[in-house]
Amino acid sequence: MESTRRRTQHSTNGKGSEAVEKSAQWGRAWEVDWFSLISVVSLLCFAPFIVFYFVMACDQYECSISQPVLELYQGKATLPSIWARAPSFTWTAAKIYAVWVSFQVFLYICIPDVVHKFIPGYVGGVQDGARTPAGLINKYEINGLQCWIITHALWFTNANYLHWFSPTIIFDNWIPLMWCANILGYAVSTFAFLKAYLFPTNAEDCKFTGNIFYNYMMGIEFNPRIGKWFDFKLFFNGRPGIVAWTLINLSYMAKQQELYGQVTNSMILVNVLQGIYVLDFFWNEAWYLKTIDICHDHFGWYLGWGDCVWLPYLYTLQGLYLVYHPVQLSDTHALAVLLLGLIGYYIFRSTNHQKDLFRRTEGACSIWGRRPTHIECSYLSADGRSHRSKLLTSGFWGVARHFNYTGDLMGSLAYCAACGFSHILPYFYIVYMTILLVHRCIRDEHRCSSKYGKDWKRYTDAVHYRLIPGVF
Ligand code: NDP
Repeated sequence: MESTRRRTQHSTNGKGSEAVEKSAQWGRAWEVDWFSLISVVSLLCFAPFIVFYFVMACDQYECSISQPVLELYQGKATLPSIWARAPSFTWTAAKIYAVWVSFQVFLYICIPDVVHKFIPGYVGGVQDGARTPAGLINKYEINGLQCWIITHALWFTNANYLHWFSPTIIFDNWIPLMWCANILGYAVSTFAFLKAYLFPTNAEDCKFTGNIFYNYMMGIEFNPRIGKWFDFKLFFNGRPGIVAWTLINLSYMAKQQELYGQVTNSMILVNVLQGIYVLDFFWNEAWYLKTIDICHDHFGWYLGWGDCVWLPYLYTLQGLYLVYHPVQLSDTHALAVLLLGLIGYYIFRSTNHQKDLFRRTEGACSIWGRRPTHIECSYLSADGRSHRSKLLTSGFWGVARHFNYTGDLMGSLAYCAACGFSHILPYFYIVYMTILLVHRCIRDEHRCSSKYGKDWKRYTDAVHYRLIPGVF
């Protein structure tokens, strides 16, 4: 394999090739099995249609996901007729999208973070990422919270004073914008793919599996960059998708107000709970550098297209549904949803915080009032050097190996339950998140097992369950 060869040549520390080969095993897969290949090709072919199906079902069938299939079966509709009814690409949407993405690029590159100088406890500015498999530590400009604040301040100023555009602008152009997002998603993934061959940012961290579909989808380059600071993963993961998430919900809220003269409590709940999640993401952007997306996944279609299309379109289905079906929840139902969402958020945040605190202080901290217990581990990086690490076994990390995912799933269920029980469409999110996080958990554990070997086994012997103690 080309990159393995390259690493062997660059191994100058005198360690044998065995060590280098072993170090190559952690990080993303080197070999592609048939199941992975079929999944990859299926996703490449069908994921854009899944997004189209859900958005089209809302636009043409008032969010019924069975009605289009029924009409096709009964011959009342055909695939071309459904396609023809969907709003097509418009230059208005293209301009809105171009302004949006350019503005986010401008904020990301041109405005260094000042928020960390004013808000105590917030970590922004230049921060170190995690060590890459090749042994590098990249620097990142963390200014996501600042970008989010500026963008939302402008949104509110426009809605209340300037009136340059309607706050319903996103909803009103939702499907034409989807074509633009697809263009960007495919363009950026293809660019990243070609860049990996032609001018990779760090050749040592590239992974070529020998399968073109897998390479395109899961990415080759680990941290593609343009210039010193434009990091593809940090930009596309956080902005434009996650900054847009709260604006999309606000646009849905404005549409409800415009259509029905009021905003329902369910819409407020979705806005508040997802708003907390988004703000949490930006508040903890520096911590995010240590998550799987940034420190293990390579940048390909999965992240590039996923961040541009899948995330903004499918993570916001609840708000979209509530525009077509304005649900006013009983006080008890609303309270139950709020509690589920907040408890889920608390578990999600505390679990992530415990790991972060533990790793930052190298165990010199207190978790649940005690000095944390842990398992000492060692692993090799691609240059053959040995490093030490620690796996926490206290707090939520002693309850299950991915209790942060459990909290995330509780929060996701709360967003769905805010939409009542008459349609299945808003529940797509919890189904998807369950598949995503269970798959992620298995993928991560496979990687950790390759990375830490027998030390990982000691950890799984100490903490038996992955997500729910006694169940899984
Ligand atoms: P984690 O934050 O759980 O990170 C997993 C990594 O942490 C492992 O690869 C390992 O890395 C390290 N680790 C594992 N166990 C321990 C331990 N006991 N002690 C110390 N370190 C450990 O996973 P993610 O990055 O996937 O998720 C971060 C958050 O983001 C989660 O809360 C998740 O719910 C959320 N998320 C949300 C998504 C969404 O679409 N809404 C998508 C994905 C994630 P190392 O090699 O450093 O040891």
